Amino acid sequence: MAKRKISCHKRAMNNDAGIVDVAIVGAGPSGLFAVFECGMLGLTCAVFDSLPEIGGQCTALYPEKPIYDIPALPEILAGNLIANLERQAAPFSPIYNLGQQIVSLSNESGFWTLTTSKNLTLKARAIIIAAGAGAFGPNRPPLQDIEKYEGNGVLYMVRRKEDMRGKRVVIAGGGDSAVDWAVALAPIAAKVSVVHRRDKFRAAPETVRIMENMAKNGQIEMLTPFQLHEIKGRDNVLTHVTLQSMDGIEKTIDADILLPFYGLAAELGPIANWGLAIDKHHITVDPATCETNISGIYAIGDIAAYKNKLKLILTGFNEGALAAHAIRHQLNPDQEFHFEYSTTRGLPK
Ligand code: FAD
Repeated sequence: MAKRKISCHKRAMNNDAGIVDVAIVGAGPSGLFAVFECGMLGLTCAVFDSLPEIGGQCTALYPEKPIYDIPALPEILAGNLIANLERQAAPFSPIYNLGQQIVSLSNESGFWTLTTSKNLTLKARAIIIAAGAGAFGPNRPPLQDIEKYEGNGVLYMVRRKEDMRGKRVVIAGGGDSAVDWAVALAPIAAKVSVVHRRDKFRAAPETVRIMENMAKNGQIEMLTPFQLHEIKGRDNVLTHVTLQSMDGIEKTIDADILLPFYGLAAELGPIANWGLAIDKHHITVDPATCETNISGIYAIGDIAAYKNKLKLILTGFNEGALAAHAIRHQLNPDQEFHFEYSTTRGLPK
């Protein structure tokens, strides 16, 4: 994946992320494609996400699963779709502010001011909310100092399978993610240990069967019923995981990577308090423009609701285009507009 410009570190000094035409809340497929559509209309964008990586559900929940219903791409891995969207947006130099949730929004003299959980502020002339099911965050296991190891051995999602090659991987959890990744990583990791507090798994029965066969063949170590008890490391890099059985017996195993798969919690969070028309956790929009009940705030993708809405990636793409055109008109009402196809307009050099 191409290197992306992440502004949060550079700008943390003065907490001011500058001014853009459009602030996009959410870096899922809808938010990323909206960058392209805005860019084609000459609008600059900054993108925010509570997750440390772009891609929304595609990255967080199913990066290695093939998607079959993206027009003109008969089959594409979700992770590769996100890499392509990032590449498509790159000519418009979006500013990515990742690992921070938008916590407040206010409007003064025609500009929206957004503030993030890291106290970064940015001014924008319009807002696109592409927040999916809400801000994602991992359900952390209650282990002392776990934050210290996050990114240094403790990961809540696997972006690239290859990063696990030759590693001693401990997977904790009993759902689909735990089982899918155990099966996927066993052939390339040095060792895969699965820790679950029950003997039964809540995952697709066929995948559980494959995992159990791999365990019988010695390709996966099954540690059940055990739960995570303690993690240890050197220089803040993970080296060991200690487990405890239900009757208090402890066992310590060497580990380079711990993948706690206890689910991701998605929360609409502060968005719910911005005065938007919200119905059952979704933002009501005008389907012709994707504008919300507040002028200048648009919503696209899974979070946007209207009659007969289809929650699909392709819907989010179309809504990004509709919102971009509506914003261009709203910000430049007097400017004459000549619609151009991308084949005519080309990309910025
Ligand atoms: P998301 O992908 O949900 O992204 C929203 C992002 O916004 C998240 O990263 C979140 O952290 C961020 N965010 C929210 N609130 C804030 C905030 N306040 N501040 C900062 N960031 C915030 N669809 C298909 O079309 N085809 C398929 O085959 C398909 N398969 C799927 C398989 C699975 C297992 C799942 C779970 C979904 C599948 N989907 C599929 C659905 C598809 O993934 C969603 O429709 C799509 O991801 C919606 O994109 P989005 O950009 O609207 O939202």
